[in-house]
Amino acid sequence: MSSDLFAQLANRLGPKGYSTDPATIAPHLTEWRKRYTGSTPFLAMPASVEETADVVRLISDAGAAITPQGGNTGLVGGQIPAGEVLLSTKRMNAIRAVDAANDSLVAEAGVILQAVQKSAQESDRLFPLSLASEGSATIGGLISTNAGGVHVLRYGMMRDLVLGIEAVLADGSIFRGLKGLRKDNTGYDLKQLFIGAEGTLGIVTAASLKLFPRPRAHEVALAAVPSPERALDLLHRMKAMTGAVAAFEVMNRLSVDLVIKNVPGARDPLPGAALMALIEFEGMDVNGLRASIEAALEAAIGAGEVETALIAENASQARNFWRIREDISAGHRPEGAQVNHDVSVPVSQTPLFLHRANAAALAIVPGARIVAFGHMGDGNFHYTVMQPEGSDASAFPGAAISSAVNETADALGGSISAEHGIGVARVADLARFKDPQSLALMRAVKRAIDPNNVMNPRALFD
Ligand SMILES: Cc1cc2nc3c(=O)[nH]c(=O)nc-3n(C[C@H](O)[C@H](O)[C@H](O)COP(=O)(O)OP(=O)(O)OC[C@H]3O[C@@H](n4cnc5c(N)ncnc54)[C@H](O)[C@@H]3O)c2cc1C
Repeated sequence: MSSDLFAQLANRLGPKGYSTDPATIAPHLTEWRKRYTGSTPFLAMPASVEETADVVRLISDAGAAITPQGGNTGLVGGQIPAGEVLLSTKRMNAIRAVDAANDSLVAEAGVILQAVQKSAQESDRLFPLSLASEGSATIGGLISTNAGGVHVLRYGMMRDLVLGIEAVLADGSIFRGLKGLRKDNTGYDLKQLFIGAEGTLGIVTAASLKLFPRPRAHEVALAAVPSPERALDLLHRMKAMTGAVAAFEVMNRLSVDLVIKNVPGARDPLPGAALMALIEFEGMDVNGLRASIEAALEAAIGAGEVETALIAENASQARNFWRIREDISAGHRPEGAQVNHDVSVPVSQTPLFLHRANAAALAIVPGARIVAFGHMGDGNFHYTVMQPEGSDASAFPGAAISSAVNETADALGGSISAEHGIGVARVADLARFKDPQSLALMRAVKRAIDPNNVMNPRALFD
């Protein structure tokens, strides 16, 4: 990249809109777990769609490339540059409009998820996407990774929450698809191309998002469950008997034990439970919701699906239940060599997946420790296999285990990346597990929209 290009970019962006200072750039070059680090000669921070378009055109004309970045919370390294211009959306941070009567709002790409949730609440509405990174993750990043989180069961993935998108394409032209319509059958639904594209097809600069009525009643329950099969029965019982399940998360024994061991102040709410189901309910019936949950749990205990259960007495206890779930990653990270997976299978296959994946991992490394947790209600597990305690970390066959776990999910009709995406971390897995026709179609779309590979050139494809 030439100094000419940097001078042109600096001129277009003005002093607040760029940096070449290593200290300013540094926080953008490492992701939070420090697994991916990168480099860039130039950090661009455009403040509007027009500035973004001009910046992209200049970079494209110069034959250079761009890595887009939002909140830098992505878990697969797609937001970390390797010499490309880094384009941060952090200055595009306005909520442009709220149309409560249309149950929608328009937010720019750099708006933090929590700010969208708050804005919806101020209009007595709900924006339901919720995940542990919501204090940093941005609308542009959440769209580009098609983020999931804990309320997918009730409201769907980010894809289901987007009505329209504005994006800058690789040649600097602007795709103006910001309509707030629920019905629009005028040919291809082009906004969908940018959802889950991980920045490879353009830069999302704003989105029109769906809002929902704000639930009046909230409850959180934690249940000790004897087995994955009974957890699946419990999921369907709670859905059928309450009609209000918003999240259904599971945590195996080891995942909770390691939170207790490694996270200061954590307490085990259900000692001895083989599996815990954390269930969140929301609805409008302030007086009746709790009674229907109690009745459903009583029936579940009678049917052997639940050994014992707690319903949070107040918001603080509910937060404590959730904290255990949210601390699971922090709990097992210090436990030595490990491989993580973010797999999904049809919900009906979740027990079989756990049995088969556990057996496959233990066949490769007898004594391996397995943390299985996550969004069972969506068929999605975060599944980590760790070295046996006290064993030699350098001898841990992570690649062989990953291969076996992914094969297990694939054989059950599943996916090797349920919600975190491909980024640079799972490029080889995508090439191996995506069916060849789909992969060829993806490449054709990329070639058609970004023929010179300007946009996030290392993500998705090798
Ligand atoms: C503690 C923690 C918990 C998490 N929990 C979940 C979870 O439950 N579910 C889940 O799905 N994810 C989860 N994540 C992952 C992460 O929060 C999501 O991937 C999020 O969507 C990324 O948003 P971001 O703004 O940080 O994007 P970044 O990390 O900055 O970027 C992510 C990807 O999107 C691209 N990108 C970013 N902005 C744009 C844009 N405007 N236009 C085009 N491309 C862009 C980047 O190039 C990169 O490829 C979690 C992460 C953390 C740290």
